[in-house]
Amino acid sequence: MEPPEPLEPRLVCPACGTSVPVAPEARCEVCGGSLADVLEASRGPRPPLPPRRLTRAQRRAILRPKLRAHHDLGTLFLALGALMLPVALAFLRPLLLMTAIFLGVGFLLRRSGWPGALRREQRRRLRALRWGLPAPAELTRVERHVIPSLEAGRVVQLDYAFTVHGQPFLGSIPSPHLADAQRRPGERVWAVYLAEDPRISALWPPES
Ligand SMILES: [Zn+2]
Repeated sequence: MEPPEPLEPRLVCPACGTSVPVAPEARCEVCGGSLADVLEASRGPRPPLPPRRLTRAQRRAILRPKLRAHHDLGTLFLALGALMLPVALAFLRPLLLMTAIFLGVGFLLRRSGWPGALRREQRRRLRALRWGLPAPAELTRVERHVIPSLEAGRVVQLDYAFTVHGQPFLGSIPSPHLADAQRRPGERVWAVYLAEDPRISALWPPES
């Protein structure tokens, strides 16, 4: 059996009604009509003006620990340690060592479950979604993770490109949705980026 042909992004030309592949110059290959308007529409609605309100679900979808179980267990140890600390200090000095172990293990588990670098990256993405300026973008790569190890539950990585004042920028975001693996490079999307640092960006709309 032949492997399926990779699907090119196609559009229906508004002038002649033919389904045509999207070339970089955005002209219909049959009648030469402009595809710019359809391309614009195919991106979906333009991101609203900042500051944008994100729903709780959208925020939670971005701020996610790498290993949820580690992080939760760490929180439990920390809480136990915090409960034991006053008891150990006031009544049971021998309990101090165990309290220290609980606090230390809790701290380490929380940090390995949600490393600081990942947390910072997620906060930056959140800032771009809230305050970022919109830019027309294009998917450049869609990569399926064989082992979803990058972030818990993240199975697809979407790379995209956009231009700010003629300068190209690249972005990359993880997605937990297997359906995103079916998306194609070349798909027109919206990105939002921080005016002070366009290296910080995200795709709009955010997942939830
Ligand atoms: Zn045409």
